[in-house]
Amino acid sequence: MKKELIFLGPPACGKGTQTSRLAEYFGVPHIDTGSLLRAEIARETEEGKIAKFHIDQGHLVPVDLVASIIAKRLAQPDCANGYVLDGYPRSMEQALKLEDINIKNDKDIDASLTAVYFDIDTKILIERIVHRQSCPKCGEIYNKKFKPSKVENICDKCNVELKTRADDTEEIAEERFKTYFEQTAPLIDFYQNKGVLRKIDANGTIEEVWERLLKVVK
Ligand SMILES: [Zn+2]
Repeated sequence: MKKELIFLGPPACGKGTQTSRLAEYFGVPHIDTGSLLRAEIARETEEGKIAKFHIDQGHLVPVDLVASIIAKRLAQPDCANGYVLDGYPRSMEQALKLEDINIKNDKDIDASLTAVYFDIDTKILIERIVHRQSCPKCGEIYNKKFKPSKVENICDKCNVELKTRADDTEEIAEERFKTYFEQTAPLIDFYQNKGVLRKIDANGTIEEVWERLLKVVK
């Protein structure tokens, strides 16, 4: 059966780690909208050139342009059995664009579309973000609270001091959640009303969340 999968959830909810694995599991392409846009720019396509112009001016890439790049990608033959779409839609405007694209490609879209909502308390996410540390040498990610290094503030492998990212503060994290609640959270109701929303508890280990995810998308 065709699998058209999209994902909703706040920043740092762990959906990124799960989506590539899910695409591999179903044998469908993993389409990450950020990489898709970068690839268009690198290949210097018409769309890529326009996107680059906006980025160079410090502006967001226009909604219609992003939608047209996604439409082109979803119409490729390797999407015949579906896709895992990562990072899109993030607003109602984008959700409506995606609906237009899907209807054009597939008349029975509501039968194959699933929107998975990673449900998690943002207090837990703020803790994940503010306690995050990484090794400047090997890139290993630690968490003072959830995945501490053996010796405090020292990488297990490289024996060098761990760093905290400058923007991993509670204030910046809260700002990112505010944007999420304003723009992305309304999509939960939108997909709920269409009858395609599946909610999973996103608090747990990667394996625990993976098992829950499989149950709702199979
Ligand atoms: Zn290291």
